[in-house]
Amino acid sequence: MASTIPQRVSAGPVNLLGKSPGELRAFLESRGEPPYRGAQIYHALYAEKRFEFAAMTNLPAKLRDRLAHEASIDLPRIVRTHRSDDGTVRYVLALASSAAEPVGAVREKVHKKVHDVVRDAVRETVPEQIPAFQPATIEAVFMPEENRQTICISTQAGCAVDCHFCLTATLGLIRNLTAGEIIGQVLVALFDNRAALKPQTNIVLMGQGEPLLNFEPVMAAVGILLDPNALAISPKHVTLSTSGIVPGIERLAREKVRPKLAISLNASSNEQRDEIMPINRKYPLEALLEACRRYPLRPWEHLTFEYVLLGGFNDSPEDARRVVKLLANLRVKVNLIPWNPGDLPYAKPDPARIEAFRKILVDKGVRAFVRYSRGQDVMAACGQLALMEMNATSSNLTQISPL
Ligand code: SAH
Ligand code: SF4
Repeated sequence: MASTIPQRVSAGPVNLLGKSPGELRAFLESRGEPPYRGAQIYHALYAEKRFEFAAMTNLPAKLRDRLAHEASIDLPRIVRTHRSDDGTVRYVLALASSAAEPVGAVREKVHKKVHDVVRDAVRETVPEQIPAFQPATIEAVFMPEENRQTICISTQAGCAVDCHFCLTATLGLIRNLTAGEIIGQVLVALFDNRAALKPQTNIVLMGQGEPLLNFEPVMAAVGILLDPNALAISPKHVTLSTSGIVPGIERLAREKVRPKLAISLNASSNEQRDEIMPINRKYPLEALLEACRRYPLRPWEHLTFEYVLLGGFNDSPEDARRVVKLLANLRVKVNLIPWNPGDLPYAKPDPARIEAFRKILVDKGVRAFVRYSRGQDVMAACGQLALMEMNATSSNLTQISPL
């Protein structure tokens, strides 16, 4: 295995990262090579984590050489690494522009989605002058724990959903990520921490972006994460978080291979949710909770509801009682997330109110946990991923020059 993370291995025009076994087979067939070589490349990439064709020793030397000229493995490039006092690592990653969809096409889709899905509720977010292949910078977060690591990945650069308490929203949507760019974040984080990996890896799709508004690439990446022949992560350890895109939830329900589902509830009434999450005007609580009730949970599974506690806004005992009513008859767990400050007009909740809120849920039989976000000192916590270049004098920063 190479000692550095190769960013763009070889100069060929076809990026193989993120392709399914079927797509790899088709690629090899199109080059007059035996299709089963596709499965071998897939295995080398995701099971053996070899990111250079020369290191794919399960392939004949001639094919390795050919691939080096005709294909590439475009991993995201680490631009900067911020290490938190609590061990959390925030990666700022540059995505190769050539891996992107032409932005003209993306912009058309986005406009359609913005009008179609969120209508006027979401402001127009795509800048007018974007070059044809828009390079993008995104973030991923690595959180080490005693017996496992959790990797938080982005599914879009920026986000169009415009939740008022979230810093990512201030970026607007820059563009969708490809499957390769999504899976690449996991590979880079695993590789960069390879000396200290624990036996279990959890993946959360909770970085920048709304995963259900970039459905196909997200599910292609999730397929590789969950595939026993690839990264082989259990579906119990992969969680997709959505702001509540009802058609996306219904679509996810029909997928055979799928991650766990988390829903950002964040409010106890439509009136309150409308105020902080404009998406609620399109998919109000009744529609969202109906989709949740119909969601086909596997025997071991529950839905997770995230509830960002905004001090003095949605953290009262009445709010807690309304949440209990909303979630009646659902198999759920609630994660209470005290708001992480950013340059936005909200307040951290009072510790006594957090505990009172939790206690009301638990006393009424709703499993509830307070989740203090990690990595706050390097802006790696939930809702803080907005490419804030930190104050250069901060002692927490370790700048790593681009590879
Ligand atoms: N777009 C998806 C996933 C990314 S956001 C979603 O909204 O679910 C991941 C979680 O962070 C969401 O539950 C969101 O409500 C929460 N969040 C956003 N901003 C936050 C902040 N400033 N403090 C705490 N949690 C925040
Ligand atoms: Fe987008 Fe999620 Fe932030 Fe809302 S909370 S703006 S959906 S990233």
